[in-house]
Amino acid sequence: MMPLLSIAEIYALIDQFDPIRYGKTRNYQNGGVSKLSPYISRGVISTRQIYERLRQRGFSLYEMEAFLMELCWRDHSQRVWQHHDPQLEARAPQHYIHNDQQLPTAILEANTGILAIDHALRELKDTGYMHNHLRMYLAALVCNHYGAHWRTAAKWFFGQLCDADAASNHLSWQWVCGANAPKVYFANQENINKYTGSVQKGTPLDTTYEELSQLHIACTWVHPKSTIVPEVAGIDNFQAELPTLLYTPYHLDPNWRKEEEANRILFWDLEQWQDYPFNENIFNWINELAHLQIPHLQVVVGDWKSIQQTLDLNRVFTKEHPLTANYGIQQDPRDWLWPQGNELPGSFFNYWKKVQKHLRREN
Ligand SMILES: Cc1cc2nc3c(=O)[nH]c(=O)nc-3n(C[C@H](O)[C@H](O)[C@H](O)COP(=O)(O)OP(=O)(O)OC[C@H]3O[C@@H](n4cnc5c(N)ncnc54)[C@H](O)[C@@H]3O)c2cc1C
Repeated sequence: MMPLLSIAEIYALIDQFDPIRYGKTRNYQNGGVSKLSPYISRGVISTRQIYERLRQRGFSLYEMEAFLMELCWRDHSQRVWQHHDPQLEARAPQHYIHNDQQLPTAILEANTGILAIDHALRELKDTGYMHNHLRMYLAALVCNHYGAHWRTAAKWFFGQLCDADAASNHLSWQWVCGANAPKVYFANQENINKYTGSVQKGTPLDTTYEELSQLHIACTWVHPKSTIVPEVAGIDNFQAELPTLLYTPYHLDPNWRKEEEANRILFWDLEQWQDYPFNENIFNWINELAHLQIPHLQVVVGDWKSIQQTLDLNRVFTKEHPLTANYGIQQDPRDWLWPQGNELPGSFFNYWKKVQKHLRREN
């Protein structure tokens, strides 16, 4: 699994990160990517905190541009999610579907014959992480060549990731298969070899882009194994005279209301689990990360209706997030690169231009 880092260790990771090397190498499997996504998606650290820390080290907006753009993709997806359910196609139906319920057996067994993808699938199992380019290759193979439905694939993939996030994940699967982009994404073997260092030839993907756009690969299919459902755990040790701070798998900020005396609860919502289930390793990893960030944390599993009976909702606080928007409790704002940009953002590049303008004005 990805390392369980304290907030001090995450700061140290940012302080060692080189955004200039990132800009030159990020597309290569062994390039200088940050591996910060597990801590961003879990809400331990924000895109703004990362940006400000790099700024303090003296990097200019220009030097950080490639990296900032990726942080901005993260913010953009989150903004979209505030207005649009990522379970639904953002633009158009999927370009090609052969099987809308199952996944190719070869994917679940890491046995597609594309060595770089099989290696990335095995690594995913061990670490809960996959490089962005490999995620794109995987999604293109699964949706555009085997013909799995993006929603089935996205739900399965989500459950394997330490950085699992519905917006970044589901919108990216949609982007690759043409449901969230004006064109469908393809990558041939030559491209895979270039960015992963593999030297494979003669695979079905070893062809021209013209042929690739018509390439449908026959395969056997299987229903993805259902993940565990965590055991219901109610609220213990509740001090009714204190407020309650509600943490979730998306909000584990150790600095949020740090000094307050309160009941601190990590809440796993079993209704959300139906759409966004994690595998057992990831579930355990998130719980361990949560305990590392937040002292005296109680893990509660159930549905919101039943736990809210114990709580005085007027004294329950969390941080704004689409999955807790209907809880009827006070939601403190999240951090953003551009805090004012809270409308449905439109295209990424328009949003990025506005974020850049805002950051320039701040400097
Ligand atoms: C099919 C598919 C599924 C994905 N699923 C997820 C997911 O569940 N959770 C997730 O956080 N990212 C997801 N991504 C986006 C991206 O792959 C990861 O954020 C990135 O690989 C994380 O590694 P890193 O922290 O080293 O990224 P870096 O390259 O170092 O980027 C820095 C940060 O920018 C953000 N970022 C980078 N690329 C993207 C992107 N394309 N979209 C949104 N944010 C981005 C992340 O927060 C990341 O930590 C997915 C991409 C694809 C193609």
